[in-house]
Amino acid sequence: MNAASLVREDLRDFAGYRSARSEAVQGDTWLNANESPWPNQADPGGRLRRYPSPQPDALRAALAGLYGVDPAQVLAGRGSDEAIDLLVRACCRPGDDAVVVSPPTFGMYAVCARLHGTRVVEVPLHEDGDAYALDIDALAAAALRERARLVFVCSPGNPTGHLVSLDDLERLSRMLRGCALVVVDEAYGEYTGAPSAATLLPRCENLAVLRTLSKAHALAAARVGCVLAAPDLVATLQRCQAPYPLPTPSVEAALAALQPEAHASTRAHVALTCVARDRLLARLRAAPQVLRAYGSRANFVLARLREPQACLERWLAAGIVVRDLRAAPGLQDALRIGVGTPEDNTRVLRLLAGGGGNA
Ligand code: PMP
Repeated sequence: MNAASLVREDLRDFAGYRSARSEAVQGDTWLNANESPWPNQADPGGRLRRYPSPQPDALRAALAGLYGVDPAQVLAGRGSDEAIDLLVRACCRPGDDAVVVSPPTFGMYAVCARLHGTRVVEVPLHEDGDAYALDIDALAAAALRERARLVFVCSPGNPTGHLVSLDDLERLSRMLRGCALVVVDEAYGEYTGAPSAATLLPRCENLAVLRTLSKAHALAAARVGCVLAAPDLVATLQRCQAPYPLPTPSVEAALAALQPEAHASTRAHVALTCVARDRLLARLRAAPQVLRAYGSRANFVLARLREPQACLERWLAAGIVVRDLRAAPGLQDALRIGVGTPEDNTRVLRLLAGGGGNA
C-alpha cells in the first residue's frame, strides 16, 4: 500500500494547476508568467516582482533539517491551518466521508470538515486525574466504524496540554493502516522535550505530522507551517495546493529564523517558557480560586476556576487577555492561560490572588 492511496480516489491522477514556476527550466529572461518587467517603486530591490517558487528548495531543506526528515517528506504552506484544510480537501470527498476529532481540541479540524461537507465524528478525551487522555482503541474503532479518512490527534493538545505517547500513535496508525490517515498536529511540539511523531514516519506510512513556525519560532504573522509525510503523499497534496502558497517575505523570514544564531535564541526562549509554565502550573494549583489546573506540555495551561468571570474581569481590567473556553462542552468553568514573559506570569498570578497587577 502506498500513502497516496489515502487521497480521494478521484484525485489520484489529478495533475493540479501547472504554474509558471512548476517547470524546472533555466533562463535569464522570464516572459512566461506575465509579471511586470519593472519593480514596484515601493519594492526598490525588486524582490517581490516575480512569483515565488511553489516550494522553495532552501525552505524545504531547512524544514527537513529542523524536523529530521527528508526534503521530499516536507510540504510547506501557509501555517498548519492550510495543511489541515488541504488534508481534508484531498482525502475526503466533498459532501461525504468523515474525520474523527477528540474534543476538547483545536477547532479548525471540525471547521474545515464542515466547510467541505464532511462529517465530524467525536471521540471525546477523558479526564485522567490532572490530565486529559486519549482512548486510542475507541478512536480507532470509531474511525473504522464510520469509515473516516482522517483522524486528527493534537499532541500536545490544544487546549488541554496533554501529550500522546509515540507508542499510542504507532498503535493507532497500525490499526488504521490502509483505511485512514492519522494526522498528528504538533503545533506545540517544541515545548514537550519529547521526540516528534515524525520519527514514526519510516514505519507508519498512514501518518502525517503538522508543524508550524507560528508558536515556538515566533513567526505567526509569516504564516509558515508544513506537513511531514511519505513522499508520495506529499507530492499528491502539493498538486491540490494553491499555485504559490508561500509569499517571498515569509520564506525569507523563515530561513532567517532557522539560521543557527536565531534558532539558538528560539531554543533558549522555549526553555524559559517551559520553566515558566511549570512554575505557573504549580502556583495555579496552589491558588484557592483554582479548582483544577491540568498538566501541560505546551506553552499554556488549562485551568478550571471557582469564579472564572470575576478572574476574567480582573485580568481584563489590567489589560491581560486569556482564552475564555466556557462555551466549549465540558469546559463551562475553564480558561486557557498562555505562558508569557516572567513579568506577565507574575501579574497573572498576582491578579488571580486579588492583588494588583504590577510585577
Ligand atoms: N494547530 C493547533 C493545535 C493550533 O493551536 C494552531 C493555532 N492556534 C494551529 C494548528 C494553526 O497554526 P498556524 O496555522 O499558525 O500554523
